[in-house]
Amino acid sequence: MSLQQELKTILGASGWIEGADAASWQRDWLDRYGEAPLGVARPASTAEVADVVRACHAAGVPVVVQGGNTGLCGGAVLGRAGGVILSLSRMATISQPDVASASVEVEAGAVLATLHDALDGSGMMFPMHLGAEGSAQIGGLIGTNAGGSHAFRYGMMADLVLGLEVVLPDGTIWSGLRAVQKDNAGYQLRRLFVGSEGTLGIVTRAVLKLFPAPRQRATAFLALPDEAAAVRFGTRLQAEAGEFLTGLEFFPELGLELALKHVHGLAYPLETRGGCYLLVEVASGSDKVPLDDILGAVLEWGMAEGLVLDGALAASEAQRAAFWRLREEQPEGQRLEGAQLKHDIAVPPGRIAEFVDRAGALCRALVPDVRINPFGHLADGNIHYNLTPPEGMADFAGQDRELALRLARLATEMGGSFAAEHGLGRAKITLADALRPAAERRLMRAVKAALDPEGTMNPGAVIGN
Ligand SMILES: Cc1cc2nc3c(=O)[nH]c(=O)nc-3n(C[C@H](O)[C@H](O)[C@H](O)COP(=O)(O)OP(=O)(O)OC[C@H]3O[C@@H](n4cnc5c(N)ncnc54)[C@H](O)[C@@H]3O)c2cc1C
Repeated sequence: MSLQQELKTILGASGWIEGADAASWQRDWLDRYGEAPLGVARPASTAEVADVVRACHAAGVPVVVQGGNTGLCGGAVLGRAGGVILSLSRMATISQPDVASASVEVEAGAVLATLHDALDGSGMMFPMHLGAEGSAQIGGLIGTNAGGSHAFRYGMMADLVLGLEVVLPDGTIWSGLRAVQKDNAGYQLRRLFVGSEGTLGIVTRAVLKLFPAPRQRATAFLALPDEAAAVRFGTRLQAEAGEFLTGLEFFPELGLELALKHVHGLAYPLETRGGCYLLVEVASGSDKVPLDDILGAVLEWGMAEGLVLDGALAASEAQRAAFWRLREEQPEGQRLEGAQLKHDIAVPPGRIAEFVDRAGALCRALVPDVRINPFGHLADGNIHYNLTPPEGMADFAGQDRELALRLARLATEMGGSFAAEHGLGRAKITLADALRPAAERRLMRAVKAALDPEGTMNPGAVIGN
């Protein structure tokens, strides 16, 4: 029996897709990677995932697990034609939250926004938010160790996963679905799988940590002169608002312009424009905390210091959503402008303005008048340093690789990272090989060889072939 026939037998007609019907799983979100699959396996249970993986392992055929396919490093598609894409979108159940233990068990194919909706009214929330939450799946978020806009306050995915169930490369099921924070029975296996981008196993189920849902929030949209002012203001706000600060996002004038130009339904809410904008949010699970006073006092200080040029507090839930959209449509505004280069940088937060200055000079030396849109998560120093070609140019004059290398080197020199929250996938292996210590890369290859000696799990991602 051929592998295709075997997989069809395991999965039934609705669980195996091949030929032209498989085309929509082939390419990555940015349309840079992805070769033709043998077919797409859509199992409906962990046992079926294990059977598929076991069959592929026996046949020596690569398996790439794909979640919502919103990853930005090409990790969710095939590097070479002929492998199997495994989609968990039929495995999306969400259990009742355990409020007393602050946890919920979910299948890996559940979409993040669906989890948020499912928790509505329970008094609890899952604190991960990102622009792709309408498509990104729990398995993909775990696979990439996603961050997003609330990571500085609640942690990245690695901090939010209590337990995991994983199908290993030979089809063995590891059940580590424990719902406790404290579990020091040896190596932290669950942490090993978080961020492994489908190269060590397939996450099929997870127990996630929950937090009390906010009872009140205050949200402000601010115009500031530049990133240096944003960092100064952000530092003071963190000191004054402490654990109540849940959002501190920034983007520049270019990002605002592109979003307003291309994305339907956006409006600028202030009278004065700035060089940099901040979206600020404070929230509390108690309605006794004077959030408006806390935020108001820091705003007054910011205005007196000349850091805040103009600002508005959201007066309704609709206005709050409108403020957040200005930030979240940054990627879409830039995508609709045309060609772009994305760089996912992190630097120590106090050095954001320095990075923006030095990186700007470096980019303009290679591509004069390149348009730069550094935006992202101020409190954890995460800058999506995205470039658009100069006006009238369709591309970056062949400097794409050099720009990526020099920006990554600068971030590294400044004590930061060139892979802050999107992972390595296929896109950043050469950067990791060039810029990370040899011992670090050797350890990663040793882990891969120990867990996946045949190399059938997402070959070519994270550590290359
Ligand atoms: C508009 C936009 C905004 C974004 N904003 C953010 C942001 O703020 N923060 C952030 O961190 N990311 C962001 N991203 C990137 C992306 O959404 C995340 O990387 C997300 O975690 C990917 O989830 P996914 O389900 O789409 O995974 P995929 O893209 O399908 O897969 C990503 C990787 O995870 C692996 N994987 C998928 N499922 C599993 C599984 N079940 N078990 C093991 N490995 C698996 C894949 O093989 C692949 O290597 C954004 C993307 C877009 C398009």
